[in-house]
Amino acid sequence: MNDVKAVVYEGPRSVAVRDVPDPKIKKGTDAIVKITSTNICGSDLHMYEGRTNVEEGKILGHENMGTVVEVGSGIDRIKVGDRVSVPFNIGCGHCRNCLTGWTAYCLRMNPNPDMDGAAYGYANMGPYDGGQAEYLRVPHADFNLLELPPGDEHENDFTMLSDIFPTGYHGTELAGMEPGDTVAVFGGGPVGLLAAHSAMLRGASQVFVVDRENDRLALAEKLGATRIDFSVADPVEQIMDATHGRGVDRGVDAVGYQAHGKGGEQPARVLDNLVDVVRSTGGIGVIGVYVPEDPGAADEGAKHGRIGFNFGKMFSKGQRIGTGQCPVMRYNRHLRDMIITGRATPSIVVSHELPLTEAPDAYDKFDRRVDGYTKVVLKPEMSGGTS
Ligand SMILES: [Zn+2]
Ligand SMILES: [Zn+2]
Repeated sequence: MNDVKAVVYEGPRSVAVRDVPDPKIKKGTDAIVKITSTNICGSDLHMYEGRTNVEEGKILGHENMGTVVEVGSGIDRIKVGDRVSVPFNIGCGHCRNCLTGWTAYCLRMNPNPDMDGAAYGYANMGPYDGGQAEYLRVPHADFNLLELPPGDEHENDFTMLSDIFPTGYHGTELAGMEPGDTVAVFGGGPVGLLAAHSAMLRGASQVFVVDRENDRLALAEKLGATRIDFSVADPVEQIMDATHGRGVDRGVDAVGYQAHGKGGEQPARVLDNLVDVVRSTGGIGVIGVYVPEDPGAADEGAKHGRIGFNFGKMFSKGQRIGTGQCPVMRYNRHLRDMIITGRATPSIVVSHELPLTEAPDAYDKFDRRVDGYTKVVLKPEMSGGTS
């Protein structure tokens, strides 16, 4: 058995690059992908910081792309040599949710009876190895894999198709966005920026991005959005002023439960701001992560998923709200095609391209938000490893 390199969780704030067994075809419907790009995600930090129950030794990485090097006997669509994007969701392709396009809630791939939906390298989402590694096993490969044009063009754009570009787009969809709408995106991290990019692609009349980091706000402006710096003044007031008191049609929460305000984490802050700033009968899409159990939460309710935002005001304004993980396959074909034709450039969020061996340092710097580490793409072929 050959060993290959992979990024492994060791404990809170510790990952290591270890030699692990070469992944093998287990079922006829599997494929093995040689990874060319694999991203570190903001949601990987929830595990890195010890805020989940992920087990020691888990191979991380759910944002993967690469080249198919082996297929099982039951595979007839995908071929060895295909360049592919691997959606972070692992769907079976046959259950009720997969059949209706909700692969993020596949009923069959997660053995945990309390949770629908499976993913690579992620806490509570099934026993699947991640792709921050030289090779990855992909179950139900004919169903799950998205083909990409051969070659290496648009690599850093296509690598955003596995999660954050479709997730950003999903935020606008959950909010019920239509052409001409005004949209406020809270959170200018990579997902928020690609939600803003998606809103522009979908014909928004104006997009606001709320953050306090200048580099993120500068990227938002580059994408055609209007910056709202919440360290300068109340973001709700700023957006109300900019919309002549009407508020926006749609809002996207790209922050999630670790929202910060003065004096630490305030898990209800972004939802409260959205209820205030979205007009009556408007829509809110929540793609930032919230969890049912969070022992590290700031208040007693949030420890058990109870987020105390102003539901009464939301009701009185008749707003709609949509939540949850993105079913990547719903959007990745169209988004791929917009990359190919040059309409979409999600690689704008990439800050670092590094060999796999530098993952421990990259996790540390990304977690501490230093040296401009916003979106790291790991390139196993740069590592000079065993491949
Ligand atoms: Zn991700
Ligand atoms: Zn399924």
